[in-house]
Amino acid sequence: TRTEGATPHPPQGDTPPALMAQLFADQRHASRHEPPPPAEARRQALSALETMVRDHLPEIAQAISQDFGGRAVAETELLEAVPLLGAVRYARRHLARWMRPERRLVAWQFLPSRAYVRHEPLGVVGILSPWNYPLLLTLSPLVDALAAGNRALLKPSELTPCFSALLARLVSEAFPADRVAVVTGGPAVAAAFCALPFDHIVFTGSGAVARKVLAAAAPNLTPVTLELGGKSPAIVCPDYSLAAAARSIALGKFLNAGQTCVAPDYVMAPHDKTEELAEAILAEVRRAWPAIEGNADYTAVIEQRHFQRLAAAVEEARVGGARTFVHGIEGETGRFPPTIVLDAPPESLLLREEIFGPVLPVVPYQNLDEALAFIAARERPLALYCFTHDRAMREKLLDGATSGGATVNGTLLHVAREGLPFGGIGPSGMGAYHGHDGFLRLSHARAVHVAGPVNVLEWLGPPYGRFARFVAD
Ligand code: NAD
Repeated sequence: TRTEGATPHPPQGDTPPALMAQLFADQRHASRHEPPPPAEARRQALSALETMVRDHLPEIAQAISQDFGGRAVAETELLEAVPLLGAVRYARRHLARWMRPERRLVAWQFLPSRAYVRHEPLGVVGILSPWNYPLLLTLSPLVDALAAGNRALLKPSELTPCFSALLARLVSEAFPADRVAVVTGGPAVAAAFCALPFDHIVFTGSGAVARKVLAAAAPNLTPVTLELGGKSPAIVCPDYSLAAAARSIALGKFLNAGQTCVAPDYVMAPHDKTEELAEAILAEVRRAWPAIEGNADYTAVIEQRHFQRLAAAVEEARVGGARTFVHGIEGETGRFPPTIVLDAPPESLLLREEIFGPVLPVVPYQNLDEALAFIAARERPLALYCFTHDRAMREKLLDGATSGGATVNGTLLHVAREGLPFGGIGPSGMGAYHGHDGFLRLSHARAVHVAGPVNVLEWLGPPYGRFARFVAD
């Protein structure tokens, strides 16, 4: 059994309430007194963000590794920095087009006149992020906020104190505080943060905390985007190669040790193929991570509480009759071994709650209707993965089991596409961002009508007596 937690976290310096209020007041004042930044200024802000991340990537990856008690620099680069910098470039390339006023049709009664939509900044956006991808999930909402011309206050997770402290310093060097600033601290700071009258809050994290964020935002009528989690299923159809599915599932699940909001939470396979699939996934895991203990390429679980939660869930399933396929042993360094579970009881923790770690139940199905009924009995998930070359089966699964997003014949990939909205549905989230969708989410679509020299409406006012003849006719 494991006796040590991840590297103990250094004490976190909480931002004093008065400083947080002042940072917010300064951003709000600037947003109300300065005109919306033109495209060039937004591109410069995005470039400043890019330079900040690029120039300090080794330090950032090191800080995150320290927070996790072990995470490969390459994992931070590939899974966080690459998509983040891709998002920056995409926004920079497209934002002039996104900002362009959109002409709308004018009905003949209003001619000659013009109508259009201006996409304007909302003002000050509050961004709260979780610990699992601290760089990406703090800064990719910021990309959309800056593209839309907003100011932003960031509140990263207290579970990544080394990263948060570094980010606070880097942001203060790269941006004026009335454009972007970082606030640090735990639940008390976060609660006070959400009570500020932001023009929008983007929250990424758990459903339990999301409810508190919504409640705190309600008195201010602050609109909120919620990026949450849930039990994202992967369904392997009978026609699909088990080996090919196993490779995608193994990477999607065990990168970052399963601490990924869109990781496949459980897999559904034809009832006579579950064991073969479990073996195939395990073979892929062994190929990627020949050893677990002491393997710097295999990420540790963020903290002991989560480690124990995972161990308890696996033990509960074992007691309930589940069989486990484990690669490696539970060690001393916070690394939880990749564990595949067959025959987990349907009411067990593993099949009820989001796993958020390197444990993968494989659930058998007799036919696709049964698989769909299993998924429908649970809350709507953030992601759905299906593996099939059969168009009818694919459509049946996409129609029958909705989710925030989906990848067909792969895992995680839909999240990294800047052209696609990223968000959940129901308990997995509210509102989507990334790319143009993120720009629109954090902009105000302002309707403008420019009246022509002749205005029909002006003839229609009182006294109404003069219309009596028309009514009588
Ligand atoms: P969490 O909800 O515990 O914490 C997220 C943030 O909320 C942190 O910054 C925390 O300080 C803050 N917070 C804590 N108490 C608060 C309060 N009372 N009011 C306001 N904010 C408060 O989540 P976590 O454990 O850091 O992350 C794991 C969860 O996040 C999982 O459920 C996962 O699925 C989800 N997630 C979702 C996405 C996505 O993009 N949809 C991405 C990553 C993680």
